Order: sequence, then structure tokens, then C-alpha cells
Amino acid sequence: MNATPQRRFAIAGAGLLGRLTAWHLLRDGYAVSLYDAGDLDTPPAAAWTAAGMVAPLAETVVSERSVYEMGQMALDRWPGWLAELQASELWHQHGSLVVAHPQDGNELIQFRRDLADTLGEGALYQELDGSGIHHLEPDLTRFRHGLFLADEAHLDNRELLTRLLGAIRELGGECHAHTPVEVHPGEVTTPTGTHHFDLVIDCRGHGAKTNHPTLRGVRGETLHVTTNEITLTRPVRLMHPRYQLYVVPKPNGRFVIGATSIESEDRSPISLQSSLELSSALYTLSPAFAEARILEQGVNLRPAFRNNLPQVTLSDGLISANGLFRHGYLLAPAVVEHLLSEIRGHGDNPFADLLDGSAPRRPCRESE
Ligand SMILES: Cc1cc2nc3c(=O)[nH]c(=O)nc-3n(C[C@H](O)[C@H](O)[C@H](O)COP(=O)(O)OP(=O)(O)OC[C@H]3O[C@@H](n4cnc5c(N)ncnc54)[C@H](O)[C@@H]3O)c2cc1C
Repeated sequence: MNATPQRRFAIAGAGLLGRLTAWHLLRDGYAVSLYDAGDLDTPPAAAWTAAGMVAPLAETVVSERSVYEMGQMALDRWPGWLAELQASELWHQHGSLVVAHPQDGNELIQFRRDLADTLGEGALYQELDGSGIHHLEPDLTRFRHGLFLADEAHLDNRELLTRLLGAIRELGGECHAHTPVEVHPGEVTTPTGTHHFDLVIDCRGHGAKTNHPTLRGVRGETLHVTTNEITLTRPVRLMHPRYQLYVVPKPNGRFVIGATSIESEDRSPISLQSSLELSSALYTLSPAFAEARILEQGVNLRPAFRNNLPQVTLSDGLISANGLFRHGYLLAPAVVEHLLSEIRGHGDNPFADLLDGSAPRRPCRESE
């Protein structure tokens, strides 16, 4: 009989990293208490606001090669994790499409150049003409040139977060909603007192700013619309000199629209200008969106360090994982596997040096 007492972990933050880590640790047989400052069903997490694209190529245009490499791990890991969660239907790997109106054709050329700068010539995309675009997305009839990034994927991120919470509860995880915490090695402080654990894992995203002075929030805005007038099978990015619109299809005729990446920690509602830009860009993608109903506007802060790359910091009794920036779903598998291998004391993660900051870093491009 194994007489080793069960190790007790606290996880601060029930967003993307917190839920994934809790789920894995519970399956390993550890005791887990999960704390979030907000509601657990509709969390204030960036992960809830996110569009759920897993887009290593498209994101490489605004970041460095390691993001692409970690993204390849995501394409490999997500299908298996979702199968284990019995949620394979949330994963859609049909590629993504990048298009531009004829007057903005230079944006497509620049996109290709940026890809080649980071990944070399022969990057993994296919050039499309109007009929190629129409073949993939019959409802997009206005475009004559585009790029097809065949490996990319998207997932139903809100349903994923809901399923993860269900699995955590089923596995006996203790979940504390509306409980903001402060973290210290081996303890968390809640409004009602201090609680001791073998290990505290800080996954509070932008909420961990007091522990990470160089962490910043990068504002992102989204609109959720619904219409039955148009069907898209994959995320579509519309290149434009001032913004890059993305439209991600969700179940039941719902679409998430986003574009903005604003260097501001303001969480106030979407501005009229952003809302107009998003709506008019959406309309130029296809006039079939004209009668779409706006269901929701979303604003949240992407947690980012100065180099826009994630970081895992380890000390006795406290591990912190943060800085996933605009690549949460893309980088979470690499980050979570690194966290788990540190906790389990075994397992190799090819990105360990990068994530714990010991690898030399290449400068990264400014994001849009
Ligand atoms: C508009 C937008 C679109 C995006 N689209 C994509 C996309 O398509 N693909 C992609 O890969 N990434 C995308 N992202 C990025 C992604 O959402 C983030 O990188 C990811 O959510 C970060 O995960 P996290 O777990 O570190 O933080 P979060 O998901 O933000 O979770 C942090 C959690 O910690 C909780 N918390 C904070 N402070 C405390 C406290 N003191 N005590 C307890 N709990 C606390 C918060 O309530 C929250 O639930 C997008 C982000 C935004 C804003």
C-alpha cells in the first residue's frame, strides 16, 4: 500500500491555464483546490473572451519562431486532450483562410513576406484564386486572392472551459468562485483567511500583475454576432492596412469577430469606433452579415511580458505560469506540459529552457 500522503495543490485563477492544470493534476491523483476571483460558469478570464483559434502560422507573422514551434505541439496535443475529455467535437482542424480586397493586395504580399522572414521560404500555405476561395468557403464571393493555411485549427473555447470545469468537479476538485486570492509560497490568502498547501500554482493571468511588475495587459475587443445567412467552416482573416479582422465560426450560426490589439489596460466596454470598424469590415467580408444580430461585445486583457512570450517561474512552494498574450490556446499545451513535468519531476519538454527563461531569446516583431 502506498503510504505517501496525497500532495495538496492550490491553483489561483480558473482561466485557461488554471483549468487545464487542475484537470491534469487531478487525473494524476493529487488534491486540487481551484480559486477564481470571478464566476466559474461565465468567467472574467481572457480565455472566455478569446476566439479560440489555434493558428501557428498566422500568429508567427506577429511573433517569433518559437511561437510557431510551440503551436505545432498544440496541434498535436489538443485532439488527444479533447478525446480524453470526451469533447472531440469541440476541435475543428479545417485550416484558416487569409484574404484581402483587391485594393489591399499588398497586405497579403506583406503577410507572405513576414511568414518567410520567420519560417523561411516554402512556408506551409497555399495560394488561392477566387475559385479556390469559393471552393473552400462558398459564401465568400468577393475575393480574388487569398492564402490557405491548411494545418490551422479552432476550438469551441467556451464549451471547452465548461467541460473542463465539469471534469474537475467530477474528479473531486474543490472549486471556489468569487474568491480573489493572494499567493505566497505554500499558501493562498482569501478574504476569509490563509490556507496552506504543498504547492501553489499561480495562473491568474493579468490578475497576477502585483507579483510580476513587468506583466502588462493588452486590450482586445470582440463582437459576437449570429446569422443563418452565411456559413463559414474555418476562421477567416481579412487583411487591411489599419487592422486585421478575424471571424471565427462557432456553433449555431454564431461568429466571434475581433481585430484590435490595443496597448491599454482599460477594461471598459468597446468603443464606438472599434465597434464601427469591426462591423463595417465584417460587412465588407460578406454583405450577408448585414442582418446579423449582435449578441455580445467583449473586452479583456491579454497577459503579456515585455517579449510577448510565456514564462514559467519556479520557487519552493510556488510556481507561476503567465504571459500567454494573444496565443493562449496555441501555447497552453507547451506551458502546461512544462508545469506538469516540473511537478511530476519527470518528462522532457522541448521548450523548458525557453519557458523558464534560460534560453537566449530572439527579438520579436511588434504586434499589430
Ligand atoms: C479578445 C481576445 C481574443 C483572443 N483570441 C485568442 C485566440 O483566438 N487564440 C489564442 O490562442 N488565444 C487568444 N487569446 C489569448 C488568450 O485568451 C489568453 O492568452 C489566455 O486566456 C491566457 O490564459 P490564462 O489562463 O493565463 O489567463 P486567463 O484566461 O485570463 O485566466 C486568468 C483567471 O485568473 C482569475 N484571477 C485573476 N486575478 C485573480 C485573483 N486575485 N484571485 C483569483 N483568481 C484571479 C481571472 O478571473 C481569470 O479567470 C485572446 C485574448 C483576447 C482578450
